[in-house]
Amino acid sequence: MKKSEQRNYGERPSIFSVVPAELTNAIEGQKKSFAAQRHQAFRELRLQRVTRSFGNTIALNGLDLTIRSGEFIALLGPSGCGKSTALNCLAGLLPLTEGSISLDQQRIDQLPPERRGFGMVFQNYALFPHMTVRRNVGFGLLMRGIPRKEIRRRVDAALELVQLQAHAHKLPGRLSGGQQQRVAIARAIVIEPPVILMDEPLSNLDAKLRLEMRAEIKRIHRDLQRTTIYVTHDQDEALSLADRIVVLNDGRTLQIGSPEEIYAKPVSLQVARFMGYRNIFELTLERVEGDRAFLEGSGIQMEGVAQEGLSSRRAVIAVRPDDIVVDASANNVMDAATRNVILGQAEIVEYGGRDYLVDVSTESGLLFHARTPRRVAAGERLRLTIPTERVLVFSPE
Ligand code: ATP
Repeated sequence: MKKSEQRNYGERPSIFSVVPAELTNAIEGQKKSFAAQRHQAFRELRLQRVTRSFGNTIALNGLDLTIRSGEFIALLGPSGCGKSTALNCLAGLLPLTEGSISLDQQRIDQLPPERRGFGMVFQNYALFPHMTVRRNVGFGLLMRGIPRKEIRRRVDAALELVQLQAHAHKLPGRLSGGQQQRVAIARAIVIEPPVILMDEPLSNLDAKLRLEMRAEIKRIHRDLQRTTIYVTHDQDEALSLADRIVVLNDGRTLQIGSPEEIYAKPVSLQVARFMGYRNIFELTLERVEGDRAFLEGSGIQMEGVAQEGLSSRRAVIAVRPDDIVVDASANNVMDAATRNVILGQAEIVEYGGRDYLVDVSTESGLLFHARTPRRVAAGERLRLTIPTERVLVFSPE
């Protein structure tokens, strides 16, 4: 085994499982070279064809991405899609199988983690349990030989940023999950790293705290403008935090775009599915006129936006539940024959606070999921209307 491969920490290398030893090594290594390591401004972090395999499994397959300084990037995808592998490659915890990573002109993929000097925030916080909050946050600076006065100043500033001054003297065990995660963030930013890597930092928190911490991370990023790469499988988190989202599946990059692009214009059925387009039905493609596609089948007629590559007689519509307008149905025969209007019956109604999630079955047996602020009762006859521009039409997979 090559020495560099020894970072593979057993079965499944993950930054979660390696934190204490890796962190200590990283800090030890940085002692020597800290003067040269202080935050250096850079223009871009470039990933070219970054690939990592484990035996026959290609965990990450040719990721190409150029990240501008100060950008917030979310790596989004289902479990096993290669998100953590990408982050581990960036951190230096995993050697690449192919490709390169550069900070401006300098190749960094051969550098060990400590020479990259990236800040890391982990899912499980990875705090030292026997050290107070202040010592946890200042530990990296102490190891780098920073004078105590300077450490105190920087730790105070970091604690103020994450609003934990009042808890500085406590041990992590006496803090809530959200507070512990803030300590972890303070510890990452206090070393003034050029890049901050976060691996599902909110997934151990309950729903309410998750929302609060999400806003907190956004505020900290706005204040510091530090380049951040954030791994998540939660589309809402990615949409609300990121400047750009990278959607991964099976190690492949499916789409890179702004939250608005990914949400409204997914490039494939796969991305659409992942972004919550829950109504996916294969229909007969009647014709395409410009960017409009006309379809019919299963008792419905639809007009939608034709995506690239429609060629066969079959096509698939993808619609988000919240793009469906729900009204009471008067069982009007005209409605039944109108394009983009669907008649059906409410089957299951879930109350969601602000709105209702309703499963609506049609006579021909299709089941639509619609989200509506309108109060709906199970068994009610409904008319669903879907705006043409919100019906995306893809080739079948
Ligand atoms: P999760 O959200 O569940 O953490 P992920 O998107 O972060 O998933 P990765 O951990 O990057 O996914 O894994 C990507 C693929 O690589 C998966 O198929 C995984 O099983 C495989 N893999 C990861 N680490 C190893 C390893 N050490 N040995 C073999 N296969 C691995």
